[in-house]
Amino acid sequence: MDSGDQDILIWHDHEAECHGCAIYGPVADVGLCADCAQKLERDLLRQCAWDYSHAAHVLGEQQREELRKKVIARYGSQTELIADEPAGKKKGKPPRRRRRKSRSK
Ligand SMILES: [Zn+2]
Repeated sequence: MDSGDQDILIWHDHEAECHGCAIYGPVADVGLCADCAQKLERDLLRQCAWDYSHAAHVLGEQQREELRKKVIARYGSQTELIADEPAGKKKGKPPRRRRRKSRSK
């Protein structure tokens, strides 16, 4: 068994459609199924969006960095759920950074 990724999520009793994968089932308070909620958690950690992360918002700065490093070491630095494009209005979404495209002359 993996060390409790599930424990960091707050679960509602009702079932709903997951915002991430559109599968109907039990969803966490972020409106995502267990799978997507964990992806979101990891994305938030990757993006240093500590205040939005269930796991990180209670941690100290050093612990947050360690958690982030762990996530990246284990799952890579690529975001899994949060895309570069805005996916409608969702609360709990960190502000996105603009990417600069380097133009070739
Ligand atoms: Zn899902």
